[in-house]
Parts: sequence; structure tokens; C-alpha cells
Amino acid sequence: MIRSKKCEHPRNMIEHNHEAYLKQKKAVVEEFEEQFGLAPFWLVAAPSRVNLIGEHIDYCDGFVLPLAINRYIMIAAAPNGTSQANLISTLFPDEPAMVMLDENPEAGAPHWANYIRGVLDGFRKKGFWPLPGFDALIHSTIPLGAGLSSSAAIEVAAATMVEGLLGIDINPKNKALLCQRAEHKFAGVPCGIMDQFASVFGKKDHLILIDCRSEEAQAIPFADDSVEVIIADTKVQHELSDGSYSNRRKQTEIALSILGKKSWREVSMAELEAQQDHMSDVVYRRARHVVTEIDRTQKAAMALARGKTHEVGELMAASHKSLRDDFEVSCKELDIMVEAAWAIGQSGGVLGSRMTGGGFGGSTVTIALADQAEAVMDEMRRRYQEETGIEPYIFATRAVGGVRLEEL
Ligand code: ADP
Ligand code: MG
Repeated sequence: MIRSKKCEHPRNMIEHNHEAYLKQKKAVVEEFEEQFGLAPFWLVAAPSRVNLIGEHIDYCDGFVLPLAINRYIMIAAAPNGTSQANLISTLFPDEPAMVMLDENPEAGAPHWANYIRGVLDGFRKKGFWPLPGFDALIHSTIPLGAGLSSSAAIEVAAATMVEGLLGIDINPKNKALLCQRAEHKFAGVPCGIMDQFASVFGKKDHLILIDCRSEEAQAIPFADDSVEVIIADTKVQHELSDGSYSNRRKQTEIALSILGKKSWREVSMAELEAQQDHMSDVVYRRARHVVTEIDRTQKAAMALARGKTHEVGELMAASHKSLRDDFEVSCKELDIMVEAAWAIGQSGGVLGSRMTGGGFGGSTVTIALADQAEAVMDEMRRRYQEETGIEPYIFATRAVGGVRLEEL
């Protein structure tokens, strides 16, 4: 078979945990060869993300400050000369999917392939249709159910794979928005823009400050070699029957209308306090979270941009308390994990810790001194396990680059 010359896109080099990256890449290529009987042409790696601060304010015109992390969805792919896409995921080995590329994609079984169908439909809407046929093998190292956004990573990986297939580069922002649309329309999840933006715009040694009002992303230097980001999956996800997420959204909308403002970005704490008597205690506390969290996220970005990593700890603690007490989206397990990190404290190498993601379970995010990170993880694991009886999944990362495409 004729193979194209090796040509690595220089977009982002991933150094942290590079061995694991190379191991995953090798496994994906081998599995592709095993499944499809030929070598892949392209290898795409799309990272997942964790949000450092700025929680539950993406739908309030706020700011979020995620980083892309060293866990990836990888896709190995090659053209197959037909008019169909053959998709295999190592996560669902018994559920291969086939998509006809000369018909309008529709959601269907298997469910996991809907994220990719949605992405293909996005290209159709942009006029790239029918697409040439291809085979694709999907593999992930993103922990399941940890709230680290594997769905966005699979969308961004698929969209980047299609760019390779077509030999085009679409505008990165439009690519992220195409992926968000796939999640809305084909998975039925009305997500914000953070996850897809983080996977696309992730930059080695940088955080991504996303302005959810203007939908603009800005890279904030986070290159301090002396710190690591620790992600601790509590391994619990409480199913709440009261539609908590839509409740919270509704309460913030009520508050904004009482305040008579069009956007939360126009609301100061003084203005909120002046209206306190006109809203219920619950609505007031929800609003207080939004106003203070928007402020904290901007302050955290500014502190980090100046290399003042130590100043972020207090902001992270205040964020957690606000989510726990005012927004009421934490849970016992998240509190235990965060308190375990707080108890270790600065002397033990912890600079800051908070819950991350939607809440009611999932993960916490902690900034720790690199030379003490192993000990911090051990101690967090020990304390959490002692108090809950649950073995958590804890790992460390640095900020890695966004999605990359390699021609093999
Ligand atoms: P997350 O917080 O990880 O994004 P979601 O429920 O939004 O959680 O998305 C998880 C879904 O994404 C899975 O149920 C599956 O449908 C899809 N998915 C994630 N990883 C893979 C994978 N490796 N292969 C196929 N589908 C995947
Ligand atoms: Mg998701």
C-alpha cells in the first residue's frame, strides 16, 4: 500500500505523560489494523478537560477557566472507498456502527455513535456532503462518569478526523460550535461551550479563559513547573429526581429578571444586595453565587496570568463554599474529597481545591506542588476511602495542547 510521508502537524506537542500518550497511540493503530486489516492514514487525539474555576456560570454569561488534560479520545481512520462510515469503539466492542454518507444522518442505535453522527451532520450542513467513506477506530483513556467530558472529546476528535479526510482546516471556533450543535441535536444535551472549546483550544501550559457571553477563548499562561493539577473522581454520581440542573438555571433567570438586567455581567454585588428583599432567600443565594463566581474567575485568571498561583487557592475555596452553600450543587462525597485536600494544606503541598463540573458527584480539582503531588494524592485517597468506604480514582495532569491530527 502507498503510504503518505509522515507529516506531524506542529499544532501542539504533548510532553506531560508523553509515554502514556504514545502507548495509547500504538494501541489504537494496532487495534485499527486488527479490525480493518490495513494501516490507518490518520490519528486524531482530542483531550478531555477539567474546569479550574467558574462553575455553573457558563449559562449566565460568565467566565470559565478550564484546561485540557492528559486523557484523550483517539481515533485512527482511513478512507475505505465506499459511501459509508464504519465505526468501532473499544468501549463498545459489541456495538459497531455504520453510517451511510449519502443520506441525512439521524440519531439512532447504537447510542454512542450519535455524537459522531451529529458531527457528520454538521459537515453536511456546511455543504461537505456526501463525505468520502472511511473506517474509524475509537479509543479512550478518559475515566467514565467522572464529569471530564468524554462526549465533547469524541465530537472534537470526529470533527478533526473529517478535516483530515477532506484535507481542510475549518475555523477552530466554528469546529467547536459544530461539535456543540452535535451534542444538542444528536445527544439531546443542552450543554454550554466550555467542553468543546477546551478540547479545541487547549494549549500546553495554558488555561483557557472562555467568555461565555462573547464566546471568545483566551489562553492564560499556566506554565509553573512546580505545580500539578490533581483530579479526584469520587466515583459517585447522585441521580436527583428534582431536575436540579434546570431548577438552578430557572432560579438564575428569575433573579436576573427581578434585577431588571439583560446580562449577569451588568450585575454588581451592591445591586444584588439592594434587591435582596424582592427575592426569596433561595433565589438570592443562587444569584450571589453567580455574581461572586464571575468575579472570582476573572481574579483567578489575572492571578495566574501574573504567575501568582498561590493566590488561586483562596478563590477556589470560596468557589467551593459558594457552590456548596449558595448554589447547593455539592454532595457529601465531593465535600469530603475537598476537605481532605484542604486538611493537607499548603504545608503539605496543596495550593487549592474545589469541586468541579455540574456537581452531585463527579470530580474535584486540586492544585498541588509537583514535588509533593504523589503524597497529596495518597493522602486524599486514604482520607476519602476511610470516610466513605469508596476507592476513588485520582490522577495528576498538566495543561496539554488541544486536538491534534497526525498523518501516519
Ligand atoms: P461525559 O461527562 O464523559 O461527557 P456524557 O454522558 O456527556 O459524559 O458522555 C458519555 C457518553 O459519550 C458515553 O455514554 C458514550 O455514549 C460517549 N462516549 C464516551 N467515550 C466514548 C468512547 N470511547 N467510545 C464511544 N462512545 C463514547
Ligand atoms: Mg458530556
